[in-house]
Amino acid sequence: MARYNGPVCKLCRREGNKLYLKGERCFTDKCAVSRRPYPPGQHGQARIKLSEYGLRLREKQKMRRIYGLLEQQFSRYYQTAAHLPGRSGEEMLGLIERRLDNVIYRMGFASSRAQGRQLVRHNHVLINGKRVNIPSFRVSPNDKVEIHEKSKKIGYIAAALAAAENRQRPSWVEVDKGTMVGTVKTMPVRDELNEPMVREQYVVEYYSR
Ligand code: SF4
Repeated sequence: MARYNGPVCKLCRREGNKLYLKGERCFTDKCAVSRRPYPPGQHGQARIKLSEYGLRLREKQKMRRIYGLLEQQFSRYYQTAAHLPGRSGEEMLGLIERRLDNVIYRMGFASSRAQGRQLVRHNHVLINGKRVNIPSFRVSPNDKVEIHEKSKKIGYIAAALAAAENRQRPSWVEVDKGTMVGTVKTMPVRDELNEPMVREQYVVEYYSR
């Protein structure tokens, strides 16, 4: 599946929010949102009032960009979620959170979802003992996610794990730093997915308009 290759700080500036797309840099004063807190482009500093549609569009774009998905893939998550019994917005968030690249990031093995995706694509990750190299792979409760024995010496994984200690790890995952093995304990907990704040109801309204 294709992915966005362009400059990512621009995406955060467009959404007016830190989307944490660049790992540790996002926590430093080099962050572009702190340096230039207005949208990119010639008219970035003009004052623009968003329409109702614009609000929903921005919310959809923000959520899509947080998880590094292109439109087609993202809208497919909505279509799947719309057929599930729960609230569509929460179901959609839950499905996306269970993507393997996101779980790797949540567990702290990667400093961003993009890095998580790279770890998966480069065959560094095992699920229940089997190699999985598909970033969109959907993990389930009780799945064991581990870093391949040969990959445990990779410096940036250890650095990401050390940096993750300063952040709160979600309660639905459990990680043993020493062995680099994690477990998905339960389904993702909605209240812990608020960083940065996502209003999934707007995303649902965008697609169901
Ligand atoms: Fe760039 Fe990260 Fe700041 Fe976003 S949060 S602007 S990706 S440094």
